[in-house]
Amino acid sequence: MPDRRAIVIGAGITGILVARELLLEGWDVTVLEARHVGAGSSSRTAAGIRQQFSTPGTVRGMRYSVRSYQALAGELEGGESPIVQNGYLFLHADPTRWERARRIARMQQGAGLEEVEILEPDALHARFPWVARGEVVGGTYCPTDGFLRPHLIYNGGADRVRRLGGVVLQNTPVTGARATAGRLTGVQTPKGVLEADLFIDATNAWTRRLAPLLGAEPLEVRAKKRYLWFIAREGPMSAGTLSAMPLVITPRGTYCRPENPDTLLMGRKHEAAPEDGFTYEDQDQIEAAYSHQGGIDAVPFELWMGLAQILPDVGQFGGINATTSGYYAETPDHNPFLGFDRQRPNLIRLVGFSGHGAMMGPFTARVALALASAGHDLDTIKIDGDDIPLDAFRIGRATGAREQMVI
Ligand SMILES: Cc1cc2nc3c(=O)[nH]c(=O)nc-3n(C[C@H](O)[C@H](O)[C@H](O)COP(=O)(O)OP(=O)(O)OC[C@H]3O[C@@H](n4cnc5c(N)ncnc54)[C@H](O)[C@@H]3O)c2cc1C
Repeated sequence: MPDRRAIVIGAGITGILVARELLLEGWDVTVLEARHVGAGSSSRTAAGIRQQFSTPGTVRGMRYSVRSYQALAGELEGGESPIVQNGYLFLHADPTRWERARRIARMQQGAGLEEVEILEPDALHARFPWVARGEVVGGTYCPTDGFLRPHLIYNGGADRVRRLGGVVLQNTPVTGARATAGRLTGVQTPKGVLEADLFIDATNAWTRRLAPLLGAEPLEVRAKKRYLWFIAREGPMSAGTLSAMPLVITPRGTYCRPENPDTLLMGRKHEAAPEDGFTYEDQDQIEAAYSHQGGIDAVPFELWMGLAQILPDVGQFGGINATTSGYYAETPDHNPFLGFDRQRPNLIRLVGFSGHGAMMGPFTARVALALASAGHDLDTIKIDGDDIPLDAFRIGRATGAREQMVI
């Protein structure tokens, strides 16, 4: 159908899953990627996925993401699952926060996340003996949460897009646009002008640079550097125990999860200035203070020691042997923008995911399809009979009040 041609700009997890969703509904889809599939944050992510969120709509949205990632395995060549459901364990040391966490867990159970467990200290230590006694007052654990294998999503997903008849053009940056009566008609690339009826911005941290090229609205999305560190297993913790470890969020915010049976991935959000003019190479630039080679005064060693206080066996690991980095695309309220551009009525923006874009991928794709079908913004989308509100993601919302990620 001539009015069902879409161009998706950006081939990370978002762009690829959106392309797949539109193709399954009969759209003609071309994905344009400046570099190569997965060149942005999607290949630099901790890729945690959780359903433990603080509003019922969010819990339901993320249940949808988990189920979708489980089902995606059947569509990928090789059939490997892109989701590892080792669970997600939030640990608490502060009694007031622990009381609040228990309340939220009960809400989550009521919203359908029946498997979330409230673990008082004895139960916690029986289940996870590697957590230090006396350091925490409790934890919530959801066994169906976990983490993703991002390359399976963007690379396997890109293959799936091609098998569905979609086109993925790499080394094809969008450099400009054509418009008639305010509507985009085509985008310029080094390979020529490509025309479509609907355009989707899935460039995340690059969106501030793409917007003027498209004549689109500037959105409050800032690129901020984030790091991950990799610690070699040694000492009493076995490969089997590490492999089965959930993603653990410690009371001070440092988190970790197994990367493989011999390596623990560790991360933590730190104060960082926006770097709006970053280059592709800057994604891999590691400041000395954040490098594992920065000596014992460097941030990762401090974090490792803090982690070891809560997980003593990790203190006996062999050392931090790698650092990776990438950009969060942050919005003031840490919720993404999912909606139609207010200057270009046939442009959908799906950007500003902060630390949640990987886990949100299938939900984002579902929102994109609903918007594409409607041709305008929606207040809610229906997932499995539940209306999930979209107001927290609308372009033009008041972002001043720092709501923490309600999806
Ligand atoms: C250290 C770190 C830890 C994280 N941890 C988590 C986590 O635990 N859980 C989670 O869910 N998320 C996490 N995230 C966030 C998550 O990785 C991102 O939100 C997600 O990968 C975003 O995917 P995307 O497809 O929207 O963007 P990206 O993967 O960044 O893709 C955007 C693409 O657009 C392309 N592009 C840019 N400009 C143009 C142009 N002009 N023309 C064509 N293409 C263009 C880029 O090359 C890029 O490939 C983390 C991120 C980092 C950096």
